[in-house]
Amino acid sequence: MTTTDNSGDVRLSGISKTYGSFTAVHPLDLTVPQGSFFALLGASGCGKTTTLRMIAGLEEPTLGTVHLGDQDVTHLPPYKRPVNTVFQSYALFPHLDIFENVAFGLRRRGIKSVKKQVEEMLELVQLGEQARKKPHQLSGGQQQRVAVARALINHPKVLLLDEPLGALDLKLRRQMQLELKRIQMEVGITFIHVTHDQEEAMTMADTVAVMNAGRVEQLGSPADLYENPQTTFVANFLGTSNLIEAEVDSTSGDDIVLKAGGGKLSLPSARCSAPAATGGKVLVGIRPEKISLTAAADAGEIPEGRNRITGRIVDSSFIGVSTQYVIDSPVCPEFEVYAQNIDRDARLVPGAEVVLHWNPAHTFGLDAAQD
Ligand code: ATP
Repeated sequence: MTTTDNSGDVRLSGISKTYGSFTAVHPLDLTVPQGSFFALLGASGCGKTTTLRMIAGLEEPTLGTVHLGDQDVTHLPPYKRPVNTVFQSYALFPHLDIFENVAFGLRRRGIKSVKKQVEEMLELVQLGEQARKKPHQLSGGQQQRVAVARALINHPKVLLLDEPLGALDLKLRRQMQLELKRIQMEVGITFIHVTHDQEEAMTMADTVAVMNAGRVEQLGSPADLYENPQTTFVANFLGTSNLIEAEVDSTSGDDIVLKAGGGKLSLPSARCSAPAATGGKVLVGIRPEKISLTAAADAGEIPEGRNRITGRIVDSSFIGVSTQYVIDSPVCPEFEVYAQNIDRDARLVPGAEVVLHWNPAHTFGLDAAQD
């Protein structure tokens, strides 16, 4: 018989947190599987840090329980939980060198021979050469890696990361994202990472929980969240979406036909999370990079029919990897299009008449009645 080690699963059952009459986290059920890299993603104030602090034991839930594997840790103090936290402020001891910073947790537990373990940890975070330096002699990214090594040396089952890269500049942050991912894969324990940066969550995590106003709006892999957002909040928080208010014209088999501003759209039923009764309203979403843009004069070959709409360029900006266009059309007044494969067509300038079209498989349908 094979057994699965689930001792690093984190299970939140109905946990919530209220401060007076304000609810920071509404009752939440969430399971983070052992060994996964999990991100809590959301804008400032959405409750992600509070959720993390309840897992760490730094905040007592108002209701609900926290389990680690089979163990109910809801009322255990932080130091009795097999978890450790890395904060944005590295909180290193300035007077101790890097070796002693990393050794600290072992020494506190009375362990005498720490050399091998500390050296292994420093190798893991690629700071073997820096052992005798003091924290102020290291870069921000290096200091953050010391904080990770120090948190991992006690072999927690779960590592919690609270905006750990927030203080780093963009380039260093990108390097550290990959570095943390490598470390997580190497040690294989559960990482739960809090961030407001969607790109960071999508780069690092295998599962992302998108939080909004104290609730998880959607949970899924980065690709799933991007391609199949279920709410307008998720559609707009992860990247940019054009959302077209459309009316259901008919449904036939796997296809929903809609009308909007004189144009016809089609949407595969499987990609629509809203009820789609004839005459009802649906928001049809299409990502800016999924749209093809053609000068009207060249659009003769694009068949008339669905998902082909006309418009006029009102703005364009070249941003290196792509050109971003804003298009005014009867279907959607501010259509955004990111085009990568247009050889700088000199006619695609503000004022030009254009045709937009796209593959319906790239669209998604949302409930137009949602908040
Ligand atoms: P940020 O990215 O800014 O840290 P967050 O998503 O992590 O935001 P939380 O820190 O979890 O948000 O806070 C959620 C809400 O709870 C916020 O509105 C915050 O003001 C409120 N809050 C947090 N701690 C307390 C507290 N001790 N007393 C009262 N309100 C609090």
